[in-house]
Amino acid sequence: MNCSDHCRAAAFIFTLEGGQEEAPVLQPLWDVVTARQDWLRSPFFPVSFSFVVYMAFCLPFLLLDFLGTKTPALRQYKLHPHSNPTLGMITRCLAHTIYNHVVFIFPATVAHWYWRPVSLPEVAPELPKVLTDVLACLLLFDFQSFVWHALHHKVPWLYKTFHKLHHQHTSTFVLATHYSGAWETLSLGLFAGVCPAVLKCHPLTEMAFFVVNIWLSVEDHSGYEFPWSLHKLVPFGLCGGPPHHDVHHMKFRSNYAPYFTHWDRLFGTLARSEPEGKSK
Ligand SMILES: [Zn+2]
Ligand SMILES: [Zn+2]
Repeated sequence: MNCSDHCRAAAFIFTLEGGQEEAPVLQPLWDVVTARQDWLRSPFFPVSFSFVVYMAFCLPFLLLDFLGTKTPALRQYKLHPHSNPTLGMITRCLAHTIYNHVVFIFPATVAHWYWRPVSLPEVAPELPKVLTDVLACLLLFDFQSFVWHALHHKVPWLYKTFHKLHHQHTSTFVLATHYSGAWETLSLGLFAGVCPAVLKCHPLTEMAFFVVNIWLSVEDHSGYEFPWSLHKLVPFGLCGGPPHHDVHHMKFRSNYAPYFTHWDRLFGTLARSEPEGKSK
C-alpha cells in the first residue's frame, strides 16, 4: 500500500455494523508522521528525536541568556538575575550531552528497537485519550523519578557515585538539564521508555509524552519563570516548575519530584523558593 492509499484507508474507521465513523482529529497528523515509516523504524530515530527535541527546547533559553547580558530588562524573568552561563559551561554541558547521546543513549535505544520493534497502527488515537495517557505517563514518571532521586540523596554512596555530577550547577541553566552521569541518564531514560509501554500507549501518544517530558525537564533547569509558565497556570501548586527544582539544586535535601509536588508534600520534603533576586 502506497502513502496515498494508506492515507485514504486511514481517513475512515469502519465500525462492526459496517457504517463509517469520522476519523480521529489527530488522523491527518498521524498520516503525516507515518508517511515517514522508514525513518520511524530506523534505529537512529529515537536518539535523533531525543537530541533534536532537547536542543530545540534549549536554544530559546540560551538565546535569552545571551540577550540578557545586553538587555537587562530580559533578566526580570530569571530566577537568579545575576547568574549567567559562561562559554566554558555551555561547551562543557553541550559536549557532555552529545557524549551521553552517542555512548549511552544510542546503544540503549538500539537495544530497545531490536527487542521491541516499532509498531505503527493505521488509526490515530483520540485526542482525549492522548491527553489522559500523557498525564498518566507524567504522573508515573514523576513517581519513579521521585523514588530514584530521593534514594540517590539519602544514600551517600549513591549520591557521590551517581548523582553528584548533576549537582555541579547550584544555579542552573538550561544545558545543565542533561549534565548527568551514565547511570542517571540511563535510569531516567528507562523510566521514560517504560511509562508508555506499561500503559500501552499509542505510538503518537508515546511521542507526545517524550516531547512533553523533555520540555518539562528543560524548563525545570532553564532558570526562568514566566507569568505563563505551566506551574503558574495549574492550580493549588500541584506543579513545581523551575522554582521547585531550582530550590533542589540550591538546598539538595528537598523537592525530589521533578514535575509535581504531591510526593514531596506527602513525605515532608517540599521546600518553597526564596523571593526572586535574593540569591547571588
Ligand atoms: Zn538531586
Ligand atoms: Zn536537576
